[in-house]
Amino acid sequence: MTAAIRLDGLEKTYAGGKRALDGVSLAIPRGSLFGLLGPNGAGKSTMINILAGLVTKTAGKAEVWGFDIDSHPRNAKASIGVVPQELLFDAFFTPFETLELQAGLFGVPAVKRRTMELLQKVRLDDKAHVYSRTLSGGMKRRLLIAKALVHNPPVIILDEPTAGVDIELRQMLWAYVRELHAQGTTVVLTTHYLEEAEELCDRIAIVNHGRIVIDTDTPTLLGQAREKKVEVTLQADVADLPQIEGASRVERLGPNRLAISYDKGLVQAGAILARLAAAGLGIVDVTTREADLEDVFLALTAQPGGAA
Ligand code: ADP
Repeated sequence: MTAAIRLDGLEKTYAGGKRALDGVSLAIPRGSLFGLLGPNGAGKSTMINILAGLVTKTAGKAEVWGFDIDSHPRNAKASIGVVPQELLFDAFFTPFETLELQAGLFGVPAVKRRTMELLQKVRLDDKAHVYSRTLSGGMKRRLLIAKALVHNPPVIILDEPTAGVDIELRQMLWAYVRELHAQGTTVVLTTHYLEEAEELCDRIAIVNHGRIVIDTDTPTLLGQAREKKVEVTLQADVADLPQIEGASRVERLGPNRLAISYDKGLVQAGAILARLAAAGLGIVDVTTREADLEDVFLALTAQPGGAA
């Protein structure tokens, strides 16, 4: 099946010489809720801006819903709705007017406009005719989502949808994103919040230094987190870090506190603790921590230069 978005060897070098995308190939399946995860400066916005027609690529190919952005730019553009990060719109227009204007920009004929339906969808129908500047932050974000949907695109991209929003609003936006996805829209979101990708996305690609370092379904990605950590407080201070068989890493947290990492597929915490005791180190307290997406992320983005 044709992908919702397909990138093939996509490259971008900005005028100043900054290489933001270093050969990105990626297929985002239709119907997915896809997370583009990466630290700041990884190249996520550059990718989105190329798809939205706001940045010109240096090399490579990009397709939206089967339309090549070079040979079928209008169809490609019509197939995608982008929700920008910043709350940008004219404060003196009402939500109703904002959507009508956007529909006009996309050439949606009056009979095909769904302005009130969209406002209902984002639960702003009761605010249809108030000035946008009087809306709360959460309402403004929902208005931006409605604005990205006026031309009824099959794919919507949300750029850092919850950057800088409080927990309550984040939960609300998550629920809304899920609802959109359940209604059949392919949703792509960029985020640097691991929790957000883990919580929402069925598939995740991690971007670092303009490259895709991994692209897989969320459970598989989490399954990669095989490293576990046990933190111990010892009876006495230790001068030298002990060698513990089966441990991948021993770190000092304090004079008498150590963090010992191990592969949970190879060894169990009990064995690690027994080996500590056998080395003559009395244990006062123990906590263990399961690895999560953050560990996978750190492991994958730690290499200098970002080589996969
Ligand atoms: P992200 O969205 O993952 O934070 P960006 O795509 O915004 O990453 O940026 C990728 C890299 O390209 C960064 O080093 C950034 O500084 C650089 N960059 C982004 N936009 C421009 C631009 N207009 N001109 C020059 N460099 C840019």
